[in-house]
Amino acid sequence: MLNIGCHLSLSGGYENMGRDALSIGANTFQFFSRNPRGGTARTIYPKDVAALETLMSVNNFAPLLAHAPYTLNLCSQDASVRRFAREMMRDDLQRMELLPCHLYNFHPGSHTGQGIEAGINLIIEGLNEVMFDGQKTVVLLETMSGKGSEVGGKFEELRTIIDGVRMNDKIGVCLDTCHIYDAGYDIVGALDEVIERFDEIIGLERLYAIHLNDDKNPYGSRKDRHETIGDGTIGLQGLKAVINHPKLRLLPFLLETPNELDGYAREIALLKSIYNQN
Ligand code: FE
Ligand code: FE
Ligand code: ZN
Repeated sequence: MLNIGCHLSLSGGYENMGRDALSIGANTFQFFSRNPRGGTARTIYPKDVAALETLMSVNNFAPLLAHAPYTLNLCSQDASVRRFAREMMRDDLQRMELLPCHLYNFHPGSHTGQGIEAGINLIIEGLNEVMFDGQKTVVLLETMSGKGSEVGGKFEELRTIIDGVRMNDKIGVCLDTCHIYDAGYDIVGALDEVIERFDEIIGLERLYAIHLNDDKNPYGSRKDRHETIGDGTIGLQGLKAVINHPKLRLLPFLLETPNELDGYAREIALLKSIYNQN
């Protein structure tokens, strides 16, 4: 069965996201761990969380994904931005222990002019400071498009981060189809080779989730603009190959396409219709 969902709003609470997911034919979803611009986190009500847990087990949900705010930057040149990022991440990871969600995805960061190596070292330092013994959550590094001074546009950069983190049994990767196509990994013309590269450099056992997005811009353009499924440069055939790839097909796929709920429902139905059952 295709494990598919999309990004949902936490504004109605946790159980509400589960209901939204069911209403659009999804069996997983992604949500922001807190306001996308950073700031205060939402109170967690045990009854709300328990209701989501029940809904998930009754309906056989695949793993959920929390996404850190976009503004979180562990490797900014500005020390106060770095400190704020660590505080938010530490708090997120502690609150995640209370949720039926054990995957926490974040953008490795932008080095803002210090250079890739300095950026990578700051990311490692930050992760080593905020991860704690016994945590259930696996922290996922998202593959990025490499726009601007973004870290994570190359598999090798993610590998270096993983190697530097002390608790790296709790580090994984979330692969974003729009981002890697933008970054110069040709998932349309050479998907097998890209997956092999990923396996050699990072290891497929570190791959926990896929952000399934089409791309508004051409291959290698480093722009990071998501397109609705089938309407971009990756295209429906390209995305069909991704969801059916033998090494990927059982992972949770999360849509981050420009849509409201009804648009997500249509994309989910479309993707289910081109998923090979076996
Ligand atoms: Fe992201
Ligand atoms: Fe993404
Ligand atoms: Zn993106």
